[in-house]
Amino acid sequence: MSEATTLIHSEIDYDADGKQTGFLRLPHSVHRSAYGWLPVPIVMLKNGDGPTALLIAGNHGDEYEGQVALSKLCQRLQPEDIRGRLMIMTMANYPAAHAGLRTSPIDDGNLNRTFPGDPLGTPTEMIADYIENVLLELCDYSFDFHSGGSSLVYPATALRRRGETPEVDAKLEALQTAFDAPYGFIFAGSGESRVSSKACERKGVLNMMTELGGAGTVTPEILALAERGIYRLLHHIGTLPGYEPDAARGCRLMEMRGPEYFVYARDEGLFEPYVELLDEVTAGQPAGAIHHPETPWVPPTICHFETDGMAICKRIPGRVERGDCVFHLATDIDR
Ligand code: ZN
Repeated sequence: MSEATTLIHSEIDYDADGKQTGFLRLPHSVHRSAYGWLPVPIVMLKNGDGPTALLIAGNHGDEYEGQVALSKLCQRLQPEDIRGRLMIMTMANYPAAHAGLRTSPIDDGNLNRTFPGDPLGTPTEMIADYIENVLLELCDYSFDFHSGGSSLVYPATALRRRGETPEVDAKLEALQTAFDAPYGFIFAGSGESRVSSKACERKGVLNMMTELGGAGTVTPEILALAERGIYRLLHHIGTLPGYEPDAARGCRLMEMRGPEYFVYARDEGLFEPYVELLDEVTAGQPAGAIHHPETPWVPPTICHFETDGMAICKRIPGRVERGDCVFHLATDIDR
């Protein structure tokens, strides 16, 4: 933990029982508001003894499924429904979520590349610091609901890291199984220390993430899977003892084994995909063409898959620049 402490003031008393709603007040002194603050919404329910869980949406502001599912949860849940403490952030990077953008329009901050943050830094850095060094300090569990956002689309997928020990791994696997998305993803411990899952790892908090659709919108099918998954998770950890989960449908566990799982645009232009989400592909197969309508006499650039796998993620906007991800693959887990 850094020497400095947060300047964010919480309207919530984290020790009080009941249902509280309000804002994390992030000081933001600007031309039109000298003593103003940015309102990061937070809801807390507490009812006696039990685990503490933090639910996060709007870490990336253009990922709407989690923001909708958690808003509905805030409407529905009452303190008597739960055991322990449940903290819900519907728009974690509030400026980004308010603008419907992946990153904050105030500081260009990508919250999920900002942990552990800085209590005296930019708004995005201050939020990251508050989550890691104030909220996660209180938590046993944290669940961060992402999706493909504006530029990508995924099927409903529950993600987790490999546990540091067999015991931790079994607990993380149980969370992923409880959520019961059609697809599950396990990522190896990477060098990326700035993501929320690493913040959880640093604080000894058990966590799970999702990729829930995307394409800059919300669909009834994905939202139903998200809401069902959240209730199942909260039941699994003991927060919602009265909820009766239906039979599990099963989760196809997949992984990415290397950079060859990604297909990137090699040129700028207009992308024509040759396959769809969830298609099985083979190494060397053409993934799509990048056309050049500005100079239509120039032949299109063809992108290829470099390995066998299933297309678990696909780019949405048609215009691409060199370096944009147009597909990434996953393969069944090799245990
Ligand atoms: Zn995200």
